[in-house]
Amino acid sequence: MRMSGKVALITGGGSGIGEASCQRLAQEGATVIVTDINLDSAERVADAINNEGGQACPKYHDVTKEKAWVALIDEVIDQFAGLDVLVNNAAIAPTGSVEDTSLDDWRSVQQVNVEGVFMGTREAVKAMKEKGGSIINISSDLGIIGEPTMAAYSTSKGAIRVFTKAAALHCAREGYAIRVNSVHPGFIDTPAVTSTVAEMSEDMAKAFRERILAGIPMGRMGRPLDVANGILFLSSDESSYMTGSELVIDGGFIA
Ligand code: NAP
Repeated sequence: MRMSGKVALITGGGSGIGEASCQRLAQEGATVIVTDINLDSAERVADAINNEGGQACPKYHDVTKEKAWVALIDEVIDQFAGLDVLVNNAAIAPTGSVEDTSLDDWRSVQQVNVEGVFMGTREAVKAMKEKGGSIINISSDLGIIGEPTMAAYSTSKGAIRVFTKAAALHCAREGYAIRVNSVHPGFIDTPAVTSTVAEMSEDMAKAFRERILAGIPMGRMGRPLDVANGILFLSSDESSYMTGSELVIDGGFIA
């Protein structure tokens, strides 16, 4: 029960890594607020946790909406008397090289992936600064190295990586007991990857998969649980001396 007594909010909690993280934190005793733009999937995940004896509450939330962030954090504080952990996990991952990305597509990726993480972190810092907490921003290997077929996405994940350090240093300098860290998954078998590959032509998808698997020293894609265990560690007090750091979980891909 490493998360006993803690309240954790996970965005994009209805699928993939977010879903596994909700389950893992709940198994360790956290009360989990499962938010997603897809309320049905948030309800499915929360129901499964509650049916297994855990504590979860589903909420509709679009991370791009500023007023919704303020309202959500207020609601959580009222309902659960505090917020200890925020996992900024929701993201979109469309493909597109520098040549074939429109400005609208570029902006929509930055809006969800970067602005969403910024607003969530800002509101959580305000809510946590008296008692402390842990904020975990989900970046990617592609926030450290470039991916030619995902220009806007790689950019957004690089922004999350450095934003996390700026926020972590601010909290430390102000004397808040808030830690802010980023997680960098490699290729994890989730619905996002399946749908990204589905957008590609057959040849492109085959080349993409071959290139990815050939580059993973451990020879397999990751599972959502592999990343959820890292998120659990950063959420718990076991990582109490970590802030502004990057946790890479990728089977050795960028090593
Ligand atoms: P996923 O299965 O697509 O789950 C993401 C969830 O976020 C979905 O339920 C999605 O809803 C939701 N979402 C999308 N836009 C939203 C918005 N504006 N507001 C709130 N929720 C929104 O993705 P995943 O693969 O688990 O990825 C989770 C995180 O890990 C992301 O930050 C991703 O970039 C990162 N990551 C993943 C991999 C990987 O290989 N899977 C690798 C590196 C990093 P809809 O399904 O309705 O859109």
